[in-house]
Amino acid sequence: MKIISAKYIFKDGEYINNSAIVFDDSIIEVDTLDNIKMKYPNIEHIEYSKNSIIYPGFINLHTHLEFSANRAKLKLGNFIEWLYSVFEYRDELVAKLDEQTIDSAIEQMKSSGVTTFGAISSFGADMRACRESKLRVIYFNEVIGSSAAMVDALFQDFKLRLDESKSISDDRFYPAIAIHSPYSVHPFLLREVLNIAKKEAMLVTAHFLESKEEREWLEGASGAFKELFKKFFNVDTPVTSIDEFLDAFKDIKTLFTHCTQADKKELDIINQNRGSVIHCPRSNRLLNCGVLDISNVNSLLLGTDGLSSNYSLSILDELKSALFMHTKYPPKELALNLIKSVTINAANATNLNVGNIKQGAFADFAIFELPDDLSDESSGSLALNTIIECRSAKEVYIAGEKI
Ligand SMILES: [Zn+2]
Repeated sequence: MKIISAKYIFKDGEYINNSAIVFDDSIIEVDTLDNIKMKYPNIEHIEYSKNSIIYPGFINLHTHLEFSANRAKLKLGNFIEWLYSVFEYRDELVAKLDEQTIDSAIEQMKSSGVTTFGAISSFGADMRACRESKLRVIYFNEVIGSSAAMVDALFQDFKLRLDESKSISDDRFYPAIAIHSPYSVHPFLLREVLNIAKKEAMLVTAHFLESKEEREWLEGASGAFKELFKKFFNVDTPVTSIDEFLDAFKDIKTLFTHCTQADKKELDIINQNRGSVIHCPRSNRLLNCGVLDISNVNSLLLGTDGLSSNYSLSILDELKSALFMHTKYPPKELALNLIKSVTINAANATNLNVGNIKQGAFADFAIFELPDDLSDESSGSLALNTIIECRSAKEVYIAGEKI
């Protein structure tokens, strides 16, 4: 058992000061520093001074580690060109993947203060590395496949990967489910996989309305997807509509990723179903997918996406980009909301015991140090300065251990 304290602690979405945390692998108590010292006079006290902030470890809810071998093979700048390049180089990139590549991708996240991440896994190639990582992982086994002839085989393959991930689950490795997207998953697969999610109370994520081409295809069987689907799958019509797809998630609290092309009505349906939206601003920009309308999102989360469509997995880089992208919000207000998107909002959306500093939560911390001469100590300023001044976390703890 130890005490940790700093000038500020980010708790329940606010900054508190003169406080301390007692912890072992979980948080035992949070109170004023004086009370804690009186109650626990003889235990080790780790004191971060100056303008340090103890945050709950940050949560990056969307990445694809299986594409970590990509640097510039996949074509950025245009969603459709990128998608064609994924078809072309996917196998090559996955074949190049080794443990060192995955470990260095995870290390990038950790350096930026991430202690929990959501990994979308299409093949299971990153399962062992994720399991062995010191970070907590929500391991989203992905289902993909729109061809009716293939659904049985794809469903079997999905179940094998899911079962394997379940067999190695513990409190650092949480098996979960990813639906690739409305355009790429056959309604049979969607129904069967969501039935498993419901029965086993598993967390679900899905890419949703990432590009204008996706909307054109789902709404009118037209646009650039028409040629792509003809070429690769010999089909002329989408497997589902936007409304049908959303309807399938009615009773399932889902994390929808991107939603850059979703309108207010669709975002309202997600809000009504207690769903969340994972915002990946850099990936969206690099694939020219537009800007998510965050004003219509009740539960905003943040993800770096994979190195398939980004140049780093630093959540600090992602926070910075989001801050500069949404220019209609005052910087301090937006910064505080963004800090919540990687902490308390993520805690609420995933129901995991992470993302907040409270009794009983895992002792996962990210310590950041702000400039010594900081004069504006308002919440918005602390959030803003964390995002613009910090290049990395000073220290990261998981389950009470410095890693
Ligand atoms: Zn993705």
